[in-house]
Amino acid sequence: MATQTVNNEAAAHDERGVRDDARAQIVSYDPATNEEIGRVPSCSAEDVRRAVGRAREAQKDWAARSFRERGRVVLRAREIVLDEVDALADLISRESGKPVTEAIMMELVPTLDLMRYFARRAARMLRPERINIGQYTLLGRTSRVVFKPLGVVGVISPWNFPWAIPLGEVVMALMAGDAVVLKPSELTPFVGLKIADVFKRAGLPEGLFNVATGDGSTGAALVEAGVDKIMFTGSVATGRRVAEAAARQLIPCVLELGGKDPMIVFADADLEAAAAAAVWGAFANAGQACASVERCYVEEGIAEKFTARVVELTRALKVDAGANDAADIGSMSCERQRGVVEEHLREAAERGARVLAGGGRGRDGGAFHEPTVVAGVDHSMRLMREETFGPVLPLMTFKTEEEAIKLANDSPFGLTASVWTRDIRRGERVAERIEAGTVMVNEVLYTHGIAQTPWGGVKLSGLGRTHGRAGLLELVRAQHVHTNRLAVLQDLWWFAYTPQSRALFRQFARRFTSGSLLQTSLLLPAMLRRLRERRR
Ligand code: NDP
Repeated sequence: MATQTVNNEAAAHDERGVRDDARAQIVSYDPATNEEIGRVPSCSAEDVRRAVGRAREAQKDWAARSFRERGRVVLRAREIVLDEVDALADLISRESGKPVTEAIMMELVPTLDLMRYFARRAARMLRPERINIGQYTLLGRTSRVVFKPLGVVGVISPWNFPWAIPLGEVVMALMAGDAVVLKPSELTPFVGLKIADVFKRAGLPEGLFNVATGDGSTGAALVEAGVDKIMFTGSVATGRRVAEAAARQLIPCVLELGGKDPMIVFADADLEAAAAAAVWGAFANAGQACASVERCYVEEGIAEKFTARVVELTRALKVDAGANDAADIGSMSCERQRGVVEEHLREAAERGARVLAGGGRGRDGGAFHEPTVVAGVDHSMRLMREETFGPVLPLMTFKTEEEAIKLANDSPFGLTASVWTRDIRRGERVAERIEAGTVMVNEVLYTHGIAQTPWGGVKLSGLGRTHGRAGLLELVRAQHVHTNRLAVLQDLWWFAYTPQSRALFRQFARRFTSGSLLQTSLLLPAMLRRLRERRR
């Protein structure tokens, strides 16, 4: 399945860059030039079911392999990635529009770290855990939790980080002993297929990891194809559809959805660092990161100076095709997304917002948009409420810490946030009051790149976690194994009930549940009487 058939014939395509008359194929385009990259099959529901069936078959043997064996395959894949960094970055840049330099630093570097980390650490993170069961230990009981693979995991991923997002989830699932079927975005199918190619060359068993290329209908088919869990990353609207379909199948899903991430800059912040961070945080990946800075709140006293510096840094950025090493801002991934940016800017301008830098397309021939700084915004504008997902940095001022926190939390999203201050205690105090899955103090955007830490949002930004131990635990089934080591003594709460048992149980309610060894030991005479009674 998903064998790529490259065809250079020029083709008409809709605003998402996908041919609408292609019956069983999707076409991938370079968004910077509109040139066709190639065509891949658009997998049907039957193709997807077959892929899941193959994955399930292959998973049985894979689950029986040791963590060391699984890790060896992942580390071999890592070597291939390392040897081919430049070619991989070229492909990622070509299919997504981002600068090659960004493809290396924001996609390949984090995954190289993630592959090493989970290949070496998964065994320790999934070691069986003994559980302290308190007073039940006194009755000769022990409990432990063992972590077993889920089976087949469906991964559905977006186009903005077509390599880093799916690859991280694939590696973690494989290390957990699962098989994977991946549905990459229809805009970036070749990057998805490349991930499979790397693992194939690393010696991953046949059938264990399949890529089902296609559009949204292929993704919908994956949710219904009998997988054990869905790891979905994408928009809130699609996330809702996936959650509804998963609920009908009664399978769990992790949803990594959109963001409208705030940045708070207090007057005591390192102004130079904060301004550079705001510019990178808002414009890296042409602003198409779920954790991009989409709202910046600056304390009144420094607003003028901060804004001037942000505008100066923004004007110095170079918009160009991603293949140019000097490009700071590449093409956006598709026309449709640029349309959202333009619509948000148009509506904000109508309501009185002022563009301080950028505002236009900047370059012809692709889905380019200039990095744009906007002032005079408020929370009634779509630009401040909805995910823009493009290179726009709106600035607003605040007077007090309370007001800054209120503004940051006044959003239906809660993915990441950042707080800028030289007073670390204040930064961490404010961080803990912000409703977001991750809050950074004096940092922006990059923590999806830290494989060791949990990633995920609150509110509309999603459910569940990827990365870190919390992310790995999403990919296993926790099984509780409970053992009675004094099985010769039957439980005194079993039948038959008598007036004596009722009196004992009342004592249990008070003494056994107190958690005190002394109180529990006071129950001993009554417990012995009950045991004798049960033996009669
Ligand atoms: P979409 O929701 O449009 O698509 C995400 C994936 O779902 C794609 O592979 C898409 O296929 C597929 N899909 C579409 N319809 C269905 C369906 N009915 N059932 C199952 N799968 C379906 O998101 P985008 O690709 O536009 O990505 C941008 C969004 O992703 C932004 O909102 C961004 O914030 C979010 N995101 C969140 C991250 C996080 O970690 N929280 C990280 C990165 C992005 P196709 O592309 O072929 O239509």
